[in-house]
Amino acid sequence: GEMTVGELSKSLHKDVSEVIKKLLHLGVMANINQELDLETIQLLATDFGVEVEMKIPVDEDNFELILETDEDGDLSERPPVVTIMGHVDHGKTTLLDAIRQTSVTEGEAGGITQHIGAYQTEVHGKKITFLDTPGHEAFTTMRARGAKVTDITILVVAADDGVMPQTVEAINHAKAANVPILIAINKIDKPGANIDRIKQELTEYALVPEEWGGDTVYVEVSAKQRLGLEHLLEMILLVAEVQELKANPNKRARGTVIEAQLDKGKGPVVHVLIQNGTLRVGDSFVAGVCFGRVRAMVNDKGKKIKEAGPSTPVEITGLNEVPQAGDPFLCYEDERKARNIAERRAITLRQSEIGANTRVTLDDLYKQIKEGEMKDLYVIIKGDVQGSVEALKGSLEKIEVEGARVKIIHMGAGAITESDIILASASNAIIIGFNVRPDAAVQATADQEKVDIRLHRVIYSVIEEIEAAMKGLLDPIF
Ligand code: GDP
Repeated sequence: GEMTVGELSKSLHKDVSEVIKKLLHLGVMANINQELDLETIQLLATDFGVEVEMKIPVDEDNFELILETDEDGDLSERPPVVTIMGHVDHGKTTLLDAIRQTSVTEGEAGGITQHIGAYQTEVHGKKITFLDTPGHEAFTTMRARGAKVTDITILVVAADDGVMPQTVEAINHAKAANVPILIAINKIDKPGANIDRIKQELTEYALVPEEWGGDTVYVEVSAKQRLGLEHLLEMILLVAEVQELKANPNKRARGTVIEAQLDKGKGPVVHVLIQNGTLRVGDSFVAGVCFGRVRAMVNDKGKKIKEAGPSTPVEITGLNEVPQAGDPFLCYEDERKARNIAERRAITLRQSEIGANTRVTLDDLYKQIKEGEMKDLYVIIKGDVQGSVEALKGSLEKIEVEGARVKIIHMGAGAITESDIILASASNAIIIGFNVRPDAAVQATADQEKVDIRLHRVIYSVIEEIEAAMKGLLDPIF
């Protein structure tokens, strides 16, 4: 029969909060005791990469969950998936290109590299997958859509420049997503390079180098002169080893859409990162609200392939429409079932767009705290000067209402940017603007993502508003 959110979490081996978050993405506001119907369970299962099998005869009250039960024996090591982040001009693109070329010269000399959103390289016979879009926008946009693709973040910091605003943003994005950070100090060839100063600065963000008693791995490189690249790759493998990244290649594939577009000749083309299982030509799949059968599959070296295992990026054709980056990709036993699920996802998503506001807003905060759905209020602070931002942080962190507290996930001096909105959306946070305001484009994104922005000029009034919201005393704003 029907299942509650709590029961479902248990059978999925997931945290209740994780299930509730996924439900929010589907536009369903639920608490732990809420009963879920079969349709919702199926959609949720799709997002978790779990299949729900109907018993025969098929009816609404008669289904069971077929869980992703990978026995240890089914699992094998998979390559880590790496994203490169850092401040503009610190060398992210140069580093990505330099690493890509190492792999081309070794194996497929003369092969035309194909941009498919990610590529693989090899060191000591082990593969590493790099997401091709540098910067945290891509990373966080995916996370905002509920997708987790990155295993390791490489934070690039130019040795002649130091920690800059986007460096800090990248750190906070990675931390919010719980992804380990490996530091690549770049441009060590430059005369002004000061490696110790970078380490010192990053120590303030709890990224303490191993040689200073911390547990953050630092690698010194020059992307331009190709120095230290092999060492960087080795260190990535080392960080990956600790994570014990595993997958089961012997089942239907599941992954995430990293890019998609409409090609004049080929029709809808999608770049998928396979995260579990093996994808084969002819397989039926759902990608977001789209579906299809794999007609052709090409790898990052531009080569036609017949199958692709875990952590492999591929380009495929054979879809009915163009999905979005961050959409879940899942294979099913036949196209009819894939189509059915895609269509139902489309309906649910459409309903959620028309329906409830699924984000945290100060106006409904108290209700969520009361119902036990919120333990922390995530906040991003942007202000005109660093001093007032710090002061605001200190005061906000002292607030506690019914066990709920304020957690600052990002702060800084400067305008409210698009990136702040995306981080807020991904983390279900609100934004406080202190003597700064978003420009029209940023406000439009905030409206679209339903992110609550609160603008203030006096510290006291911020504290008062947040406290009132947490106590359920906020006057409605019209
Ligand atoms: P991104 O904005 O982080 O992607 O940075 P880019 O990769 O575009 O690099 C910005 C500039 O720094 C370019 O002019 C690069 O040639 C230069 N650059 C990148 N890496 C190095 C390096 O290791 N040494 C030196 N000297 N210049 C570098």
